Amino acid sequence: MTRSATRRALAALLCSLGVVAVTVSISVPRALGATSSSPSLGTSAAAVIETTAAPASLSEGASGSSAGAGVSNAVARAGAGAAGYRRDAEGNYQNAAPQPKQGFWKTVGLFWDVMFRKPAGTEPAAGQAIPVQALTRAQLMAAPDRTLYRLGHSTVLLKLRGRFWLTDPVFSERASPFSFAGPKRFHAPPIALDELPELEGVILSHDHYDHLDEATVKALAPKVRHFLTPLGVGKRLIDWGVPAGQVQQLDWWQSTTVAGVQFTATPAQHFSGRSLFDRNSTLWASWVIEDDDMRVFFSGDTGYFDGFKAIGERFGSFDLTLMETGAYDARWPYVHMQPEQTLQAHLDLRGRRMMPIHNGTFDLAMHRWQDPFERILALARLRDVELVTPIMGAPVDIEEPVPTQAWWQEAS
Ligand SMILES: [Zn+2]
Ligand SMILES: [Zn+2]
Repeated sequence: MTRSATRRALAALLCSLGVVAVTVSISVPRALGATSSSPSLGTSAAAVIETTAAPASLSEGASGSSAGAGVSNAVARAGAGAAGYRRDAEGNYQNAAPQPKQGFWKTVGLFWDVMFRKPAGTEPAAGQAIPVQALTRAQLMAAPDRTLYRLGHSTVLLKLRGRFWLTDPVFSERASPFSFAGPKRFHAPPIALDELPELEGVILSHDHYDHLDEATVKALAPKVRHFLTPLGVGKRLIDWGVPAGQVQQLDWWQSTTVAGVQFTATPAQHFSGRSLFDRNSTLWASWVIEDDDMRVFFSGDTGYFDGFKAIGERFGSFDLTLMETGAYDARWPYVHMQPEQTLQAHLDLRGRRMMPIHNGTFDLAMHRWQDPFERILALARLRDVELVTPIMGAPVDIEEPVPTQAWWQEAS
C-alpha cells in the first residue's frame, strides 16, 4: 500500500469513527473530483470571498426583506486586524500564522493512540453521572435579560433583550457524521429541542461535528430567525434547507446587528472540514457579542495565538469569556489550547470572568474528562481569575453570577 493510500485508509477509518473532524488533522490531497475553486461555497459567499476588500457586501441574508426587522448589514470595524482571513494557493482558508508541518508517522502514531490507546477516565465511568438541571420553556420565558445557560460542550443559550441566542447547538447523541459511531455525549441536554422557545439567532463558530450538528440545525431551523456563521459555513446550512434569507456569513472582524445586539466574527486559530476532501473550505471564527456596554466573548475552537490580544485591544474588555478548555493535547497545540493558554487568552482578552467550555460532554482527547475543570480551576486560583462553572442547565447572571460549584468533583 502506498503512503497516500495508507493515509487515505487511516483517514477513512478516523472519519468513520467520527474523530477526524474533532482533533486530528490528516492531510489528504484534494482530489477525487474536487474542483480547485471551493466547491462548497455558494455563489454569493464565493463572491464575498473573491472580493476581500468589500466588507459590506455580505452574503445571504444580510439585507432584503426576508432578513427581518432589526437587522443591519454587517460592517467591518475600522482599524487594526482588518486583514481578515487568508487563503492558500488552493483557495482554502488558513490561519494568520502557518501551522507547523506534522510528519506522516507522527500522525499515524497519534491516530493509533487516539483510537486504540485511550487511557482510563476520558469519559465518566458507569454510574458516574454528569449533573444536569432540567430547564423548561416557562423558566426561560420568565428569566431576566442577560441570563445564560450552558447546555453542554460549546452549546450556550443566552437571553438578551427578551430574545434567545444559541451558540454551536449540538443536541444529538453523537458528535459524528454517523449515528452509530463517534464520540457519544455524557449527558442529556438540559432542555429538549422542541421545548426550546423561538430563537432570535444561532451563532456558529465552525463546521466540525461537535459544533455544527446537521440534525440539530434542521430541527431548529423553523424556530430560528437568523443563523450567523463564518464565511462558507452558511452554505452548508442552505444546502440542508435553511432559507438563504435567514443566513448571514461573516468574515473575521465583520459585524452585524440583530435585534439590538451586535455580533462580530473575530479570528481564531483552528481548521475546518466535515469529510476527507473539504479541509479548510469554510472559515472558523470566535465571536464577540455586545449588548450596549455588556460584552461576551465566545472562543469557538482555537489554539493560543496573538489574536486574543488584538481582540482585547479592539473591544476593551469582556464581562464574560466563554473559553475553550478541553480536547487539548501536547501533540496538537496549534488547534486547541492547554489550560494555561486558555487562562492567558482570557487575560489577553481583558476578560472579567471566564466560563470554561468545550468539556464535560464529549470525549475528544486523551485527558481525563475532569482534567480541564481541575486544571483551569487551579490556574484561575493562582492568577486570581474568577471562574464560572455552572451545572449544565443552571441559570447564570452574565454580569453578576453567583459562585458556582465544582460539580465535576461530585459527579461520581
Ligand atoms: Zn473544531
Ligand atoms: Zn470542538
